[in-house]
Amino acid sequence: MKKALMVLTLLVLFGMPGNAAAKLNIVTTTPDFAAIAEEIGGDRVEVASLAKGIQDPHFVDAKPSFIRQLNRADILIEGGVDLEVGWLPPILESSRNGKIQKDSPGRIVASSGIRLLDVPTRPVDRSQGDVHPLGNPHYMLDPENGKILAEQISSRLCQLDAGSCPYFQANRDAFVRRIDQETAEWKKRMAPYQGTKIITYHASWPYFAQRFGLVVVGHVEPKPGIPPSPGHLEEMIDLIHREKVRILIMEPYFSDRAPNFLAEKTGIQVLVLYPSMAPDAGINRYTDIFDFDIGKITKALEKK
Ligand SMILES: [Zn+2]
Repeated sequence: MKKALMVLTLLVLFGMPGNAAAKLNIVTTTPDFAAIAEEIGGDRVEVASLAKGIQDPHFVDAKPSFIRQLNRADILIEGGVDLEVGWLPPILESSRNGKIQKDSPGRIVASSGIRLLDVPTRPVDRSQGDVHPLGNPHYMLDPENGKILAEQISSRLCQLDAGSCPYFQANRDAFVRRIDQETAEWKKRMAPYQGTKIITYHASWPYFAQRFGLVVVGHVEPKPGIPPSPGHLEEMIDLIHREKVRILIMEPYFSDRAPNFLAEKTGIQVLVLYPSMAPDAGINRYTDIFDFDIGKITKALEKK
């Protein structure tokens, strides 16, 4: 009887192997991080994203439920470089969860290890509204950076659940292999359009453009996070004519007023592309983002 009680106590204290209770609870700020965490963690983790993929990651309405989610998390994955600075810090503090505070093993900053683009050479005054003061945070739109995050997640999961490490590493290897295969395919589809000039609404596509051979010549926003003025739109019309730009890329969460105005004036095609998960558009896995976006771009550029 005593022995049985001791075994039971041990199981309660250390969790039963393979039991649902032993799963690591991962919370991410955006669902593209969640999609990769799911692929690496498999059935040994529970994953949830605070924001939806069709929300602007810079401006998320923090709900009280976010604090409860953070309170129960074993791991938090955030984008870093001030991506979530407008909404994450206060709810993180309110969560009172030591496991996911700065420099804890349960805190993963996805941008660490990423070669960032658009890093300002001089300090940026945030009061001017620029939401990219530490470099461009939209690095997940290069699948190579998805591989870097997969490696970071797998090594952290190994640290927190050493017994499942070979499983996490096998999942990481399979993910990396699939990214490599699919990237070769995506590059083949984009090969005819190397050097194509594009305009984007927000400065969220430099990593994508660099990987797939597009050239971003301008943005609808004069600075990241600043809405366009009439004067800026006039300049854009000149630019589109001068550079013969055929496509304008925007995310679903921006107003289409300025893009449609530019389309009316210049004939530029407006493409609404997804930067993250969008189940309603069939984007459920990380690689679906690129399948969808490259499909739309190549279709638009095929038309002469
Ligand atoms: Zn941004």
